[in-house]
Amino acid sequence: MGAYAYVAPQSVDEALSVLGEQASSGTRAQVLAGGTDLLVQMRSIDRGARTIIDIKKLAETNRLDVGADEIYIGAAVCSALMNEHEALKALLPGLMEAGDLIGSTQIQGRATICGNLCNSSPAGDSIPAQIAVRAVVDIANASGGRQLPVEEFVTGVGTNALEDGEFVLGLKIPRPAENSSDAYLRFIPRTEMDIAVAGCGVSVTLAEDGTCSAARVAIGAVAPTALLVPAAAEALIGSKLDDAALQAAGEACSTASSPITDKRGTAEYRRKVVAVLCRRAAAIAKQRATGA
Ligand SMILES: Cc1cc2nc3c(=O)[nH]c(=O)nc-3n(C[C@H](O)[C@H](O)[C@H](O)COP(=O)(O)OP(=O)(O)OC[C@H]3O[C@@H](n4cnc5c(N)ncnc54)[C@H](O)[C@@H]3O)c2cc1C
Repeated sequence: MGAYAYVAPQSVDEALSVLGEQASSGTRAQVLAGGTDLLVQMRSIDRGARTIIDIKKLAETNRLDVGADEIYIGAAVCSALMNEHEALKALLPGLMEAGDLIGSTQIQGRATICGNLCNSSPAGDSIPAQIAVRAVVDIANASGGRQLPVEEFVTGVGTNALEDGEFVLGLKIPRPAENSSDAYLRFIPRTEMDIAVAGCGVSVTLAEDGTCSAARVAIGAVAPTALLVPAAAEALIGSKLDDAALQAAGEACSTASSPITDKRGTAEYRRKVVAVLCRRAAAIAKQRATGA
């Protein structure tokens, strides 16, 4: 591992001031949440000197609130903590299962879904699940902060919309309406601890007669960034989420994807798999929304 300095600010203002100082002096700074990506990268692929800014001591990044209208998941909240939160599991089971897929129990004791987002890998498991539940990124900066829908946050492979002097405070998620639910599925060649070949997050809301009145579909690992697929949602909305609607949504996901071929699968295979995952995730979200 290369040389690094470590700071653990006690307030958001202090964190912003350290980030600001680093930016103006041209020194490299990097935020540390769980470190399950960052430390691996510092040991193996990127040994350059930097200042590590640990955000785990900030009250704001440790917030985990389930409010009447909004859910807030702070950027230092690890997956293991989320998975022990009964209200979160009941309201956002798909997002929780995405967090629960990240690594092992030990990894989940450190890893955060905001770190997963900021790492901005095309295969980051929680990113499609965040998009499906309309998550918005709460960004701290010296101008009072800004917010960005998750689907606009990741800009490319390993890149995102954060500018110098900014960091992520947490995610804001609208509390799901009655008769709503979500699901996330991924496919990996092994049974666990692998990178997704394809992933799909779906959220649905059902009217009293079972018709789908709202939906969001997002896909991962089949394009340079996770993608919101409006055409897949349109195929679901207005239907009873029957086989024909699921089929059409799956096809829309295949069409929206632009996968690569690598050792985990060919582009053609990934296009097929993402359609299957969409159909299955939508069926699970429907079942959960009906309380079955
Ligand atoms: C054994 C193992 C298995 C894994 N399995 C999976 C898997 O199945 N699926 C998957 O998607 N990932 C997996 N990962 C990758 C990793 O665990 C996840 O991406 C995790 O969610 C990263 O979160 P973190 O809090 O540890 O991020 P960190 O490592 O702390 O940070 C990751 C990146 O985001 C930046 N960052 C973090 N937080 C912020 C913030 N608040 N503001 C600005 N920038 C920030 C950091 O500077 C760094 O560049 C695995 C990793 C390991 C080691």
